[in-house]
Amino acid sequence: MFQVQDLVTYGVWDFVVNVLIFAALAVPLFLLFWKFYKKKFQSRRIQSKPSNSTASIREEIKHSMVTLIIFTLVDVLIYLTQLKGYTKIYTNVNDYGWPYLICSVLIIIILHDTIYYFLHRLMHHPKIYYIIHKVHHESTDPSPFAAFSFHPLEALLESIPYVIFAFLLPVHLVALWAWQIIQITFNIIAHLGYEIYPKGFNTHWLFRFKTPSTHHNMHHAKVRGNYGLYFTWWDKIFKTEFPEYNQTYEELQEKIAEGKTSNHHALKHITDTPFKITEKTGTFS
Ligand SMILES: [Zn+2]
Ligand SMILES: [Zn+2]
Repeated sequence: MFQVQDLVTYGVWDFVVNVLIFAALAVPLFLLFWKFYKKKFQSRRIQSKPSNSTASIREEIKHSMVTLIIFTLVDVLIYLTQLKGYTKIYTNVNDYGWPYLICSVLIIIILHDTIYYFLHRLMHHPKIYYIIHKVHHESTDPSPFAAFSFHPLEALLESIPYVIFAFLLPVHLVALWAWQIIQITFNIIAHLGYEIYPKGFNTHWLFRFKTPSTHHNMHHAKVRGNYGLYFTWWDKIFKTEFPEYNQTYEELQEKIAEGKTSNHHALKHITDTPFKITEKTGTFS
């Protein structure tokens, strides 16, 4: 029989671990790209405007911390239901074997990407956007700290895949942890503000289905389109990928190859003509 004190202790430790994982990835990347080697990486910068203000980065950190608190509460709830035997989480690898464990991580990633794509499109419905998703889009030029910069309700919605996996899919704890680390890493890279993927990535037979940083950065700059999280296939299937995505990526790669540090051409069409959201009607134009 569990004690309330045990749940509180679990919650505190879980929150500390969540923050540490997030910080261990976001802080070094932020310091590297946004502070110490800003000039060195200037050619890799995706948007042509000056870096974000300290105030907006502070907001991103604040919202991300609230998100981590909500993720922790969901973790505690799942832990509690696991104790009562309601979840499909298992801890003995031999129950399903290593091949299944490894495959389950891939399945989780593909399912998460699918759920996220449709959830994300739903959150862009004008009636929902202003209540839930606008907080994330306050970052038009995101920094690594924007990865979890959500409204509390969005943080709850973002937990849906976790709940689905815990209750519907036999999933080993290690698989869940591996997925968490992979998704946080990709998420932070997507919000890096700098492109770290190589030339030709967008046209490679396989990698063209993986989202480089530019893909999600364009979503932040334009407020719609490029909705995918890990992969580009749902955007390609539903034709929600920006037609100028490839050109943007390739022009940025040219800039990187030439080592140009000046802010210029490549992403002008992002920052010069952002989509405007009509506040009154809530429609995108
Ligand atoms: Zn969005
Ligand atoms: Zn984002």
